[in-house]
Amino acid sequence: MIKISNLEKKYNNQIIFNDLNFTIEKGEVISIIGPSGTGKSTLLRCLNLLEIPDKGTLEIDKIKFNASHYKLNEINKIRLKTSFVFQNYGLFRNLNIINNITLGLTKVNGIDKVEANKIASDLLESIGLLDKMYSYPSSLSGGQQQRVAITRALALNRNLMLLDEPTSSLDPQWVKEVLNLIKTISLSDQTMIIVTHEMNFAKSISDRIFFMMDKKIVEQGSPNEIFDNP
Ligand code: ADP
Ligand code: ADP
Repeated sequence: MIKISNLEKKYNNQIIFNDLNFTIEKGEVISIIGPSGTGKSTLLRCLNLLEIPDKGTLEIDKIKFNASHYKLNEINKIRLKTSFVFQNYGLFRNLNIINNITLGLTKVNGIDKVEANKIASDLLESIGLLDKMYSYPSSLSGGQQQRVAITRALALNRNLMLLDEPTSSLDPQWVKEVLNLIKTISLSDQTMIIVTHEMNFAKSISDRIFFMMDKKIVEQGSPNEIFDNP
């Protein structure tokens, strides 16, 4: 369903990673772990083409992208298959909470405003933030903002949700509520790739863990295979 072949990314002629190959099935939850600076965030951004890889191919739900020859509209087609959760939430400061969620639904997914409001308010209710629908992001705690950002990504209903260190910017008291929401979503059929430093969390939610180091995925397997080997 998602297939990555020979993926390579360089910055200023320095290889960040090369010859990355993996496939991910629908509904799988993958965590990417590894030391800082090994290219985990870069890989995530290459998967939705926020960064364009230098080589290789990417296929998400039959939409293909080849870094060696592509048309600009193919970038958009891949983006429409993915949603992204940023470390710093990435909410629109000048939009209230419900409009943060409905904007992409109406402008990108083409859902009418009434239906979009219904989807957004149902989701806000499910995360206990319906009373914040007309508030602005700056009046919410970090944990609340990140839960809205995750909910916004979920509402878009894309084939692949990418989460880049979703708890790294949070004060410690907000981490758990965000991890709990991600865990709930992981139990649905949403396919997810999460870059995280939360090892216990990665163990508890992942179908597979990719360990990235030295420009490669050096190990991959189920949490037991990765953590419990002698
Ligand atoms: P990780 O997520 O594993 O911490 P990153 O993907 O953020 O790693 O970064 C991998 C390497 O690429 C780092 O050395 C970082 O400084 C470098 N890097 C990331 N983004 C850029 C960029 N836009 N331009 C140049 N170098 C970058
Ligand atoms: P993270 O690893 O959480 O993505 P970073 O601090 O590595 O955070 O990167 C933050 C932003 O800065 C990213 O957009 C990344 O592309 C950019 N960046 C990181 N390293 C470099 C670099 N050496 N040169 C230019 N941009 C960089």
